[in-house]
Amino acid sequence: MSKIIGIDLGTTNSCAAIVENGAVKLVPYKGGEFIIPSIFAIDDKGNELIGHEAKRQWQLNPRNTVYAAKRLVGRSYASDIVGAMKKQVAYEMKPGERNDVLLDIGHKSFRLAEISAKILNKIRQVAQDYLGEKVTRAVVTVPAYFTDRQRQAVKDAGKMIQLEVVRIINEPTAAALAYGIGKNLHETTVIYDLGGGTFDVSIIEIRDRVFEVKATGGDIFLGGLDFDQAMIQHVLDDFTKKHGIDLSTDPVAMQRIKDLAERVKIDLSSRESAPFSVPFVTMTPQGQPLNIDFTFTRKLLEELTTPLVDRTVAILERVMADAGLEYKNVDELLLVGGQTRMPVVQKRLEKIFGKAPSKGVHPDEAVAIGAALYAHSLEDNSDLRLQLLDVIPMAIGLERAGGEFHTVFARNAAIPNAKAIDATTSYDGQTEVAMRIFQGDAPQVAQNELLGDFLFSGLKPGPSGSARLEITFDVSIEGILTMSARDLDTGKQMKTTVRVTQS
Ligand code: AMP
Repeated sequence: MSKIIGIDLGTTNSCAAIVENGAVKLVPYKGGEFIIPSIFAIDDKGNELIGHEAKRQWQLNPRNTVYAAKRLVGRSYASDIVGAMKKQVAYEMKPGERNDVLLDIGHKSFRLAEISAKILNKIRQVAQDYLGEKVTRAVVTVPAYFTDRQRQAVKDAGKMIQLEVVRIINEPTAAALAYGIGKNLHETTVIYDLGGGTFDVSIIEIRDRVFEVKATGGDIFLGGLDFDQAMIQHVLDDFTKKHGIDLSTDPVAMQRIKDLAERVKIDLSSRESAPFSVPFVTMTPQGQPLNIDFTFTRKLLEELTTPLVDRTVAILERVMADAGLEYKNVDELLLVGGQTRMPVVQKRLEKIFGKAPSKGVHPDEAVAIGAALYAHSLEDNSDLRLQLLDVIPMAIGLERAGGEFHTVFARNAAIPNAKAIDATTSYDGQTEVAMRIFQGDAPQVAQNELLGDFLFSGLKPGPSGSARLEITFDVSIEGILTMSARDLDTGKQMKTTVRVTQS
């Protein structure tokens, strides 16, 4: 069998790793960098560009360059998040058939799974070039806070390019593997993962080769991009104040500002102030060129982004409470994701935990390394034995009368997991039972995410309440739900994976 590679499919950057001759390593791209930007573009000649090639032409071709598409995966077009994204990006979106998001670039429409597939394929090619053999199987990481629907989308993306996603694992869990394997640890670890697009926090008990997630939480709309956005907004407001010109409708100017915002932000992790200069960003109505000439201080960046750090801390507190854990009982705090390099994030956490974060993992590399180690443990001749015990990030349940959410699995329920509920008919002659399944923590289904409609048909008609059905919810080790139902009188069984038909 071919090698199984580990892939960290990130919002802003992706990365692959493998185990070779007993050692785990990142796969280098063209001999140099390990990181591949998660960017897809179509240039004016109709060529598809992925990764560094796409990023390089980003400023000149913002309209046909897709970045941060992972934030849109598994979202309905009408959702607030898609609305917010539309304001931030230059590429066009439109609703798809299932009310998902389609991207319109280079005069073509792309489903999000296609974009993920293209990025996955690029990573696979890089790994193939390095290994000199075909790669057909991978362990792919996702944010712990991904729903069933978003996890399915990653599997679908793999199928499109004949890449078998043998296992999906959660990013913080992968980071814990990178940190903990081979150290014979017995400790409680908090993984605080603030990447380019998403925030996750998981509490994991490590008992040598057993990694047991106690609780998890997160926000898949909270990451480095939002720190950039806070800076961008400030610069735009300042420019409007000085010159009375709103740059937000000028895609080329916006792209230059966005690029610079990220670079200045990163600079400010090691400096107290940095210039924010964009020469000739626009012109006055009289044709005079105007520049952005601004000095950003670390202090200002910290002020502008305090609300974002506060949100991560609120989630951390909830997860600690869910696990019934006090800060003083945490043995190790691991920081993962590039945005945790921001000094104020580290300071804030150090204060909360009363100790400095561990230096035991590399914030950019740990997730891919963990994925590769796990991939290795799944290979036939592997001598690496691992046990991962994970949880679901949000409750899964069904709609009851009046739109009430009836929980079947509570948030943080261990997976794999199965539960059966009894159901019956509610009117005479009923031959079908329909069920709408949701994921989320709100008491009303309208605030949760629809995972799909489930229909069990073929019941023998009879008086209301006479049928006896047993409906089983099965959540796999990957956090993906499968439903099955059985007529207890006839023993008849129907099985289907939950699919979204409308939102
Ligand atoms: P990741 O998804 O882990 O690759 O994280 C990428 C995010 O980390 C991006 O938003 C980067 O801008 C941010 N980032 C990378 N390095 C730094 C740094 N030194 N200081 C602040 N943010 C950083």
